[in-house]
Amino acid sequence: MKALIKDQPARGATYTDLPIPKIGEKDLLVRVKAAAICGTDIHIYQWNEYAASRIKLPLLFGHEYAAEVVDVGKNVTHLKTGDRVAAETHVPCGHCYQCTTGLQHICKDMKILGVHMDGAFSEYAVLPAVCAWKLDLSISYEIGATMEPFGIGVHALSKTKPAGKKVIVFGCGPIGIYAQMVAKVSGAEYVIGVDVTPERLELAKKMGTDIVLNSKEVDVISEVEKITKGLGMDIVVELTGNRGVLNDASKTLRRGGDIVLVGLFSGPVEWDVVNHVIYKEANVYGVTGRIMWDTWWTAQSLLLSGKVDVGPVITHRFELKDYEKAFQLAQSASTGKIVFEI
Ligand SMILES: [Zn+2]
Ligand SMILES: [Zn+2]
Repeated sequence: MKALIKDQPARGATYTDLPIPKIGEKDLLVRVKAAAICGTDIHIYQWNEYAASRIKLPLLFGHEYAAEVVDVGKNVTHLKTGDRVAAETHVPCGHCYQCTTGLQHICKDMKILGVHMDGAFSEYAVLPAVCAWKLDLSISYEIGATMEPFGIGVHALSKTKPAGKKVIVFGCGPIGIYAQMVAKVSGAEYVIGVDVTPERLELAKKMGTDIVLNSKEVDVISEVEKITKGLGMDIVVELTGNRGVLNDASKTLRRGGDIVLVGLFSGPVEWDVVNHVIYKEANVYGVTGRIMWDTWWTAQSLLLSGKVDVGPVITHRFELKDYEKAFQLAQSASTGKIVFEI
C-alpha cells in the first residue's frame, strides 16, 4: 500500500510502499478514505523538539481520518466489514482509574494514534475497535476525518454555557473556528475570533463569527473593552498555545467568567494567577481531546441538525503523493483544514 511515513530524524517525510498491516483480535483493518493534517503532524514533519522527544522511528503518521472497515479482529463484535468509521485518536487502556470512571480520553496509559503507534496517512490502517466511531451515512468521509478536531471545539465549549453569553476565542485555526461555530450555534450573544493571519480571520468571518480582530493590527484588550462596554467577556477560549497570549486573553475575561485552555504551550508559562484567576474568581478549565463518546454524539448531532456546516473549513485537498505541497501550505498557518483524499 502507499503510505507517508517518517523514517528520518530530520525535516520531511517519505512516500513509500508498505505491506498492508496485520490486525490484532481487537482491531479493525480499514481502507482510509480521507485524512486531515493536524498541528501534531506538522511537528512530526518538521521534526522539532516536540516530535523528537516523543516519537520512535519509523512511524506511519496521520491520525485525523475516516475510513471503511475491510476486516475485523476476531473479538470485535459491534462493527463489520463495510461499516464507515471515523477515528478517535486517544487509545485508552481500558482498565485504569480514568478508563473505569468515564474519563477514557485522559487515560493514564493513553496512546495516541499516529504518535505512539502507526496512524493513517496510508491506504490501509489498523484502528483499535475501541477507537472507532461509526459514521452516520449522511456524513461524508471528508467531514468524518474532521470530526476529531471539530470534537475538540465541541468539548471546549461544553465546559461552559454559551447561550446569551459573550464568547471570545483566541486562535482561528480550524479548531478555533470550530469552537466559534459551536459557541454561535449554542446561542452566544456574539462571538469574537482573534488571530494574526488575515486568511484565517476571513475564514472565521465566513463561518459565522460576529467580530474578528487581528491582534497584530489592533489592541485586543481595549477593543474588547469597547465592544463589551467595559463588562469583559463571559467566556474566553485559548487555542493559540502562544505564551504571550495567555495574559492578554485573561485580561479580556470578566470577573466570574470562564476561561477554557486548549492550546498547548511549549513549556511552562508565566501567568498572573492572582489577578487573572483568584481575584476574578475565574473558572479555569483544561481541555484535551474529546470525551468518549459524549463529545462525538454531540458533534454528530450538531452536524446532523444542519445548523453547523463544517465543510467549508476544509480549504485544501491533496493526493497523498503531493504531501510536500500540502505540508508547505500547512506550515503557512494561513489555511483551514487540509485533507488528503486517499
Ligand atoms: Zn490531531
Ligand atoms: Zn486507561
